[in-house]
Amino acid sequence: METKFSTFAILLLLVFSISSYAQNIQTQSIDEGGEYPISRNDANHPCITPEQYKIIEKQCVANIKLLGLENVGKKGTNTTSFIWPLKTANGLNDCSYYYIGNYLDQDATSPGIKDWNCGSVTYDGHQGTDICTYPYPFDKMDNNQVEIIAAASGTIINRVDGNFDKNCDWSNGNANYITIQHADGSVAMYWHMKMNSLTTKQIGQTVVAGEYLGIVGSSGASSAPHLHFEVLSGITINTLNDAYSGPCNTLNANSWWAVQKPYTEPAIIQASVHPVLAILPVCPATETPNEDSCFTGGASAKFYIFMRNETIGLVQSMRIVNPNGTTFSSWTHTSTSNYFASYRIFTQTLPTTTGTYTYEAIYNGIICTKSFKINCNSSGILENNIALTISVSPNPFCSSTILQSDKILKGATLKIFNLYGQLVKQINNISGQTVTLHRENLPCGLYYLRLIEDNEVNTTYKLIITDN
Ligand SMILES: [Zn+2]
Repeated sequence: METKFSTFAILLLLVFSISSYAQNIQTQSIDEGGEYPISRNDANHPCITPEQYKIIEKQCVANIKLLGLENVGKKGTNTTSFIWPLKTANGLNDCSYYYIGNYLDQDATSPGIKDWNCGSVTYDGHQGTDICTYPYPFDKMDNNQVEIIAAASGTIINRVDGNFDKNCDWSNGNANYITIQHADGSVAMYWHMKMNSLTTKQIGQTVVAGEYLGIVGSSGASSAPHLHFEVLSGITINTLNDAYSGPCNTLNANSWWAVQKPYTEPAIIQASVHPVLAILPVCPATETPNEDSCFTGGASAKFYIFMRNETIGLVQSMRIVNPNGTTFSSWTHTSTSNYFASYRIFTQTLPTTTGTYTYEAIYNGIICTKSFKINCNSSGILENNIALTISVSPNPFCSSTILQSDKILKGATLKIFNLYGQLVKQINNISGQTVTLHRENLPCGLYYLRLIEDNEVNTTYKLIITDN
């Protein structure tokens, strides 16, 4: 009985924690945030299993033999230098788009872990660097927004495509990937790519540094879209290297990066304005950011910041900047926890005056901005830049007709003149976009209609009244 009860309690706890985890963002109200609900691969769920490594190694050795590349770089020293293997595409203009989920594990003991900087940003036995896309990684993948590019020139010596790419766990180990051999005989592996996104180039063809290889995906043993990037000084796994040089790198002395990025990079990845909260459904459903760039003046909106390496004590400073550069409103938040990838939501009242504003967020000395408009039409054109055009239908008319404006009128005046220029009818204080005109006692004939707003004649229109 006792066992049954505790099993039930554990199940209940599990169900509760799963559901609260999944709805993390939706349920946030004012000034909330925390770690972005996304998992990283770990020791029990490695990016590549030992069995897979054996197969990969066999394939690469065989392909190199077939291609006659066995002697490439032999007896030489490694001279390859890497550029960053990811780049943004397809209109992704965020301030950044990634965080490091795991470095290579430099600790040979098990279960000990140690990354190149003597920290613990790794899992036991990890042989590469996990670069995770963020926020909305599945949305980024669906829209091909983060490309994997060749970190160095070389020859494709292995290539696998066609595997499912929306894994959230580690049950499906078949990844899409590319392996490249460089001129000095070293090898780089690009793992977890999006299905059918791989370059059309085949095994044996060469690529240059920066060339497109594929899209970041979640194929293979993967918790969410990320690139597992691995480097070998030779072809076999006993030549494993760490791309990063540092005090705890016992594999190689030099960095493989042309410019090595810092161990942590606290930064705001994205600042965005939302009419409603972003929706982060249970993996692998695609996220709905619910961002917008056009708002009604005076409404309330959700101001998000997404951060990489949020660090205790660091302050985020946010402000809404008026069209003339002055501050409309400002606020700050001080981090109370360390996070890999985090978010924070602030509910703010929007300005009322029509114009283009900037949402500015500063963190760790880095400014991230997003512009948004107050009072604009569905095409994003500011209300005061919309030319007023009207239509009247039916025209000619007999008893009544409807005037339609493409701009929202605020207190406009409508005047109708006869052919002699005499004012025969006036409607004051028109708001909205439609006005019904009744003929009343006006005789048949031609009339002129004038719409006046802010004491200016905005438009003149010809009206015809008939008896039938
Ligand atoms: Zn990995």
